[in-house]
Amino acid sequence: MIIKDKMKLEEKCSPVSISEGEEIGVRLLHELREADNGIGLAANQIGINKRVCVVNVKEPLVLINPKIVEKSKEKFVFPEGCLSFPNDKVKTIRHESIVVEADNHEGKLSFSANSKNIDDAFECVCVQHEIDHLDGITMFEREFKSEPLVRGINAPKKIGRNEKVTITKGTESKVLKYKKAEPMLEDGWVLSNI
Ligand SMILES: [Zn+2]
Repeated sequence: MIIKDKMKLEEKCSPVSISEGEEIGVRLLHELREADNGIGLAANQIGINKRVCVVNVKEPLVLINPKIVEKSKEKFVFPEGCLSFPNDKVKTIRHESIVVEADNHEGKLSFSANSKNIDDAFECVCVQHEIDHLDGITMFEREFKSEPLVRGINAPKKIGRNEKVTITKGTESKVLKYKKAEPMLEDGWVLSNI
């Protein structure tokens, strides 16, 4: 049974022993296989408030007491879903790469969306999404809100006419020169490299 109650999902999970974490990991992978289109699940989504989550994009991965120990300054926008909120899609902003430590993995695990393989982006986002769950954070809190383009002294950064920018609209994204992108911003596209 997957918890769909946002209030319950806002509680932080507590650390767990490796042996208990492994048992929870097996249950999570089982639940994830039963779920349609699921690529990750955190223990609190099935009512266990312990720090265990699983990700299954390229291969099944169990993370016990995971911690993000490094994160890139670069961020990117990604359309996300969640098994607890099957009817919602949120355009979130996530770190382009992260390094994770977990009690059941020796050494560090690196995830990066900066790759030609789209699965790398899914995996990188999914790990951030699941670790967030363990901290009581849902994807709604990571929503990318495009700020209106500010001109003049308040502008966070001046963008050159020939500078390449990334713009997104829904699940589409394009990289093009700012002078070409600017008129499209009035048409629902948003700048996504911030
Ligand atoms: Zn989720």
